[in-house]
Amino acid sequence: MQEVLKSLGISAVNPGGFAGEWTGSGKAQVVASPIDGSALATVMNVTPQEFDAILARSHAAFATWKLVPAPKRGEVVKALGDELRRNKAALAELVTLEMGKTLREGLGEVQEMIDICDFAVGLSRQLYGLTMPSERKQHRLQEQWHPLGVVGVITAFNFPVAVWSWNTALALVCGDTVLWKPSSKTPLTAIACTKIAEKVLRDFGYDPAICSLAIGKGSDIGDLINTDPRVALVSYTGSVPGGRHVGKLVQERFGRHILELGGNGAVIVSEKGDLDIALRSVYFGAIGTSGQRCTSTRRVIVHESIYGTFRDRLLDLYRQTPIGDPREDEILMGPLVDAGAVETMLAAIQTVKAEGGKILIGGEKLPHPGGCYITPCIAEVPGNLAIVREETFAPVLYLMPYRTIEEAIALQNGVPQGLSSAIITDHQSESELFLSAAGSDCGLANVNTGTSGAEIGGAFGGEKETGGGRESGSDAWKAYMRRQTSAINFSGKVELAQGITLEL
Ligand code: NAD
Repeated sequence: MQEVLKSLGISAVNPGGFAGEWTGSGKAQVVASPIDGSALATVMNVTPQEFDAILARSHAAFATWKLVPAPKRGEVVKALGDELRRNKAALAELVTLEMGKTLREGLGEVQEMIDICDFAVGLSRQLYGLTMPSERKQHRLQEQWHPLGVVGVITAFNFPVAVWSWNTALALVCGDTVLWKPSSKTPLTAIACTKIAEKVLRDFGYDPAICSLAIGKGSDIGDLINTDPRVALVSYTGSVPGGRHVGKLVQERFGRHILELGGNGAVIVSEKGDLDIALRSVYFGAIGTSGQRCTSTRRVIVHESIYGTFRDRLLDLYRQTPIGDPREDEILMGPLVDAGAVETMLAAIQTVKAEGGKILIGGEKLPHPGGCYITPCIAEVPGNLAIVREETFAPVLYLMPYRTIEEAIALQNGVPQGLSSAIITDHQSESELFLSAAGSDCGLANVNTGTSGAEIGGAFGGEKETGGGRESGSDAWKAYMRRQTSAINFSGKVELAQGITLEL
């Protein structure tokens, strides 16, 4: 463990602020691993005054960074990807130590960082604007995209490094600077990533404040980001109540935001689908990352004709789930992020029972140092009970039957969140209906693969209470830039649009 920390530049005590220099004289925070409760290192939070100086540096760095040609900015992102490749094993291990996901998933998360860097390098030569025919003679109409400013990136604990990289790789090629406020549950991975970015920027001779960091509580540092007009875009990933608060504050000052909030993923298992694919997709979607993904499978809606068979086979898989130290190869489920998350899960299970649901398996705390281990739970429910409509950020899976595909889609859509959904079917009409305007209302809708594990190539995000934001691939980059439309007149005369004449 010490070797991993050392190789990533983590000391016993670490300043939690960076904008060219490392600062942090606020509250000291001991970071403990959910694996066994052991202390990993101490982080010094930034004070509001230090935050102000960090933001001022990030804002100043934008003035020069935005003038660097986009393909040159892409070269920096290419080097960032290469540096992440070099540090992949160590960074993945730190993710596991600090957050508790399995090492396999930690490696996958760092791979996702590398993938988005590769994507962004190509993008740096493709920040296309459109040209349109003008309605006026000898005029030209065009759109172009300019850098936006400082992007405040506020991240959740469950993807402690990937979400930063989704935002940072795009923001950098778009000519923006990044100021990151990570979750207080995962500050060490944030320090490690910032050190990697610092090295790359210094190697190129660019201002290292282009990738800044401010570690501190959401209610103080987060709110400073939300309210400061120097932050042009706030990219917020977190819970629905958090997003509601951030959205209001940013909107109040007419800032821009990308909201990536809670999910309530469902899989529809049709009798016309492959049962093995359904079982594997649901099982991984529900227990992967110990049910702590925004795209985790929380509901499974099964056709009544195969309901009993599906339930019994899923219960068999649950009984055999290897739970334990997430660094070990055979382990599929590690701890929850902290003891509070375990208590939230236990409370949700009590509510399920009180609302008429039946617990089929799981929800038992396991005796283990650190106290964050619990068995995954399946509850049988008659439909979207009040507790089912909430996102419980833990491995609780709700199982419900359906009769017609229309009824299944209504159940799938019958929650306030709209992030991830899936159908398992080999029947083309069913899958097409699911993908049509009458189908899933989510930002992600999959066929014959589960709700979790999105690729970076597509735009990622969801509807309704998930917040409507999009990050990552496709044309998500447009949110990180300022659009400008120009009319260019080369006629030698003044002609107004819409045929309006001006007699002088
Ligand atoms: P959280 O809402 O507790 O915290 C998220 C971040 O918000 C943290 O960095 C926190 O410090 C910060 N924060 C708290 N108060 C703030 C304030 N007043 N202003 C600004 N920032 C503030 O979420 P969490 O427990 O870390 O993560 C789990 C949640 O995140 C789940 O709801 C999950 O679905 C969601 N999530 C969504 C996505 C997505 O892409 N849609 C991805 C990952 C996680």
